[in-house]
Amino acid sequence: MHPYETLLSWIELDADALSHNLQTFRSLIPAQTKLQWVVKANAYGHGLEPMIGLAQENEVDVLGVHSIEEAARARAAGWTGPIHLLGPTARANLDRIRSLSLETIVFDLDTLAALDQIGDHERPIGVHFKLETGTHRQGILAEDLPEFARFMEHARGVRLAGISMHFANIEDTTDHRFARAQLARFQELSDPLRKRFPEAIRHTACTAAVLTMPETYFEMVRVGIGSYGYWPSRETLVACRDRIGRPISLLPVLSWKARIGQLRTIPGGSYVGYGCSDRVGRATRMAVLPVGYSDGYDRGLSRLGHVLVRGRRAPILGRVCMNILMIDVTDVPDVAREDEVILLGAQGDESIQATDLAEQIQTISYEVLARISPTLPRFVIRGPQTA
Ligand SMILES: *Cc1c(COP(=O)(O)O)cnc(C)c1O
Repeated sequence: MHPYETLLSWIELDADALSHNLQTFRSLIPAQTKLQWVVKANAYGHGLEPMIGLAQENEVDVLGVHSIEEAARARAAGWTGPIHLLGPTARANLDRIRSLSLETIVFDLDTLAALDQIGDHERPIGVHFKLETGTHRQGILAEDLPEFARFMEHARGVRLAGISMHFANIEDTTDHRFARAQLARFQELSDPLRKRFPEAIRHTACTAAVLTMPETYFEMVRVGIGSYGYWPSRETLVACRDRIGRPISLLPVLSWKARIGQLRTIPGGSYVGYGCSDRVGRATRMAVLPVGYSDGYDRGLSRLGHVLVRGRRAPILGRVCMNILMIDVTDVPDVAREDEVILLGAQGDESIQATDLAEQIQTISYEVLARISPTLPRFVIRGPQTA
């Protein structure tokens, strides 16, 4: 039996596409620069657990996660390499940074002092100062930095493993003046620290920075969206093409598939779904899919989105429901119940990518991907695909 025969909605993850993308990023950075693979938000909705095996195969140096909970899942799934926490940790949970052998960014002194108490003097906890350079999200203000540095001089339970920052305005524009100003600020703040703590690695680059600004690489880069096969934005694509002068291909890793649950013809003039918001003009072959907004298929796609059936685009009829949506398959020849439907991915010559859905609901591919329900079954696929 085909492994998916029992399923009505699932995610396929293309291991070859992922390797291609990670190798692409490897090829852009110097050999000694570390690659942190950012797998926060359930690996951008792809599924953290299936990605752990692929992280091992692809020889990424470090995993970047947001929370202790994600770090614990990565450990449980067998990742023994370095993990860096990118988000804050509740005070009552700080001891798990030690027990899970994590490194963490820090941006407040209480956390630093508490970690110093928790850390083993033989194997101090690696902390990474997150410097405020203009993003005004998480960060240490320049005026507070000397106190952090003084603390480290006497610390026994923590060691300064890294110095980092995050760009505010690098993916939304081809004008990198703000990014360059942040970078200059970072250098001004990090140079004196590096003299005192030469072991500390510097890291600033997200996907867009890796693709467009080599001066941001330092000792490690942190790649998220690009590894999953998406450009951070059209502006990044343009800026990268101008800089590199050769085409770079990124291949989407995730496909979301479902099967037609019901198929029937409804008479012309029928209303479809909640709110009677849609009415078909002609007799319509309508298919019902067992996918809804609770799965992460945005309700904003009601009457807007499309899916692929037998290589053709089929529009969504009416409102996306909690677990169900309806599509118009009148123009799809030979459509049958249990036909495979593509919500995200390619079929025949057609494809629907997260960027397409993002445009329709005025958001970014990151959000479309990250909101795909973690409860959908996920499968890693390798080798040539049969549609
Ligand atoms: C999410 C995140 C990244 C990755 O960003 P992409 O644009 O997905 O590459 C890098 N660094 C930090 C601190 C992040 O939060």
